Amino acid sequence: MTDRRTFLKNLSLLTVGGWAGSKALAATPAASKETIDAITAATESAGAKKIGLQTYSLGQELLQDLPNGLKRLAKMGYTDLEIFGYQEKTGQFGDYNPKNTTFISPKDYKRMAEDAGLRISSSHLSPSLREYTKANMPKFEEFWKKATDIHAELGVSYMVQPSLPRIENEDDAKRVCEIFNRAGEIASKAGIRWGYHNHSNEFKRVLKAGEKPEQNPNPWAPPKGTYIEELFLKNTDADKVMFELDVYWAVMGQQDPVEWMENYPDRFKLLHIKDRWIIGDSGMMNFPNIFKKAYEIGILGYFVELEGDRKGRTQFEGVEKSAAYLREASFVK
Ligand code: MG
Repeated sequence: MTDRRTFLKNLSLLTVGGWAGSKALAATPAASKETIDAITAATESAGAKKIGLQTYSLGQELLQDLPNGLKRLAKMGYTDLEIFGYQEKTGQFGDYNPKNTTFISPKDYKRMAEDAGLRISSSHLSPSLREYTKANMPKFEEFWKKATDIHAELGVSYMVQPSLPRIENEDDAKRVCEIFNRAGEIASKAGIRWGYHNHSNEFKRVLKAGEKPEQNPNPWAPPKGTYIEELFLKNTDADKVMFELDVYWAVMGQQDPVEWMENYPDRFKLLHIKDRWIIGDSGMMNFPNIFKKAYEIGILGYFVELEGDRKGRTQFEGVEKSAAYLREASFVK
């Protein structure tokens, strides 16, 4: 009988590229049929769904007592973490909260997560440099090279940039994409996949450089310009850059996340499962359809994320209720 912790440890050793559903393993040449069968059997007996959490959801509540906080998360049913708070200068991990005093080295973070039976499979980080110019390319390369080394120690499968550079026209977007491609190239050398995560501003349309918006646009004509998200998808290379779709922020950007997955089935590899607060509570997110499409396109994993109004409740409470919702949902595999 394999207990859950041993099972997870074995799984993380065997996984290439992160989330180890039996399907992913079947595609891994190194894994023998016996190994796959053993893992499939263990998954079934453990009855474990793979549920990820973006730790930004907890902020200081987690960092104040990280070892015990991580154990609480494992008990709730979380299996994977996407962390945040990479410190460019020190290579440690903390919080953007200026009051934070907890900073953790990649080795310690990895060990603490493993002790709790969790795997850190992803990390959110963005360069502090905001000018995406050709002249700054060496500085971006330097940032991503160092970050890649640190994240290789952490053992992640993914590094994801969650912040949008300033983009006013198509040329700006193309320049940003050159830097995204380069970041992806650097990360891939350490076996890490590089991705971009959206909020709602990526669903604003921009025009070509020099093109002026119409003064009195015909209200019946389709709007001019291209979504920034679409420019990113079209101007990055699929073998270097993947996308993490935040389904809630897509809806806030007046988009249907299912349609985006349908239109770019090979590009969206991860999801942020997010709602107004607790997952499934608002009723405004069509999670059954979102998960159905995600499985159809072969998504590699998802991370729960809670932000915003908690109405006097703790973040841990929201994170626990969200895990319970996903554990019980028949549409979540
Ligand atoms: Mg998000």
